[in-house]
Amino acid sequence: MSGLKEAYLYEPIGDERVRCNLCARRCVIPEGKRGFCGVRKNIGGKLYSLVYGKAVAAAADPIMKKPLYHFHPGSSVMSIATIGCNFRCRYCDNWSISQEREVSGMKLPPARVVQLALEYGCQGISYTYTEPTIFMEYAYDTAKLAKEKGLFNTFVTNGYMTPEAVDFISPYLDAATVDFKGSGNPEFYKTMAAVPDVEPIYECLKALKRRGVHIEITNLIVTKYGDSIDDLKMLAEWVRDNLGPDTPFHILRFHPDYMLTDVPATPLNTLEKACEVAKETGLHYVYLGNVPGHRYEHTYCPNCGERVIERFGFYITRWRLTEDKKCPNCGQEIPIKGKYYPGGSGYQMPIF
Ligand code: SF4
Repeated sequence: MSGLKEAYLYEPIGDERVRCNLCARRCVIPEGKRGFCGVRKNIGGKLYSLVYGKAVAAAADPIMKKPLYHFHPGSSVMSIATIGCNFRCRYCDNWSISQEREVSGMKLPPARVVQLALEYGCQGISYTYTEPTIFMEYAYDTAKLAKEKGLFNTFVTNGYMTPEAVDFISPYLDAATVDFKGSGNPEFYKTMAAVPDVEPIYECLKALKRRGVHIEITNLIVTKYGDSIDDLKMLAEWVRDNLGPDTPFHILRFHPDYMLTDVPATPLNTLEKACEVAKETGLHYVYLGNVPGHRYEHTYCPNCGERVIERFGFYITRWRLTEDKKCPNCGQEIPIKGKYYPGGSGYQMPIF
């Protein structure tokens, strides 16, 4: 089965209109029309996903690419996406698939995704590249099958899910990378991503936390438009107070792309300053992403400062934790969920 599938989490609201309750836009969709994400259509008063089992990208990725640094380190994840997105980020580096509105992709039903994950020696599946919320039916059915085969599931998401969507997927969702942009500045979200309100992202994060999903935060610092250190400090404090100081916090470098090709990459000193400010708020694990070889790629013990996990790009180059995941110098426990896979490949293996 590929393509059309009656949607989960929608309701008829009269006159053949439906309301989609997957993401915080809660689109009201008249008969014959699609929602904002472009992949959910009202046909005869029923809402359908147009992209069920239709993957536009699939690859076996190192888990550090998501990035997840404190979850099954060294593992690989079969990564899939469909076209479409509920955001319109002007700098999106996956814009050719996220902003595509013509339904395209290869037939890849849930059972085949799981089979591919096992064939490629992956330990989990990641729903990523575009926004998984908008292909929930495909992700949910795949995640359920994956669990039966002993695989874990992770979302890389903008966090714009409704509480109902979090409740729905969380029994099968083990980890989520929640991507902030411009440190959550509401004006940035409005003008750069066409997102009217950032509050649902915080609600989604609290719901994921309540449900016991492992969370890592990323924050893309966009040169000139989204690089306020005050905003960054506020975001870091919110994460510390609501998700806990052990929540990994990744600060990501922006690279020119899509509509922002004339904006330079984030300067290194801005990124380093951002990392230092985030650490000063009391967050224990602050990382710098998209700068391979930087000292902030490593994990340091928050108690004694010892470098306990060393990384380069998507590789773990040195693992110094004890078997029970403690600092070898002072015995401080380092929160790592799941198993460490020594020698885990840092390679990406694209399938298509
Ligand atoms: S998932 Fe798509 S159709 Fe549903 S509310 Fe969000 S943007 Fe609208």
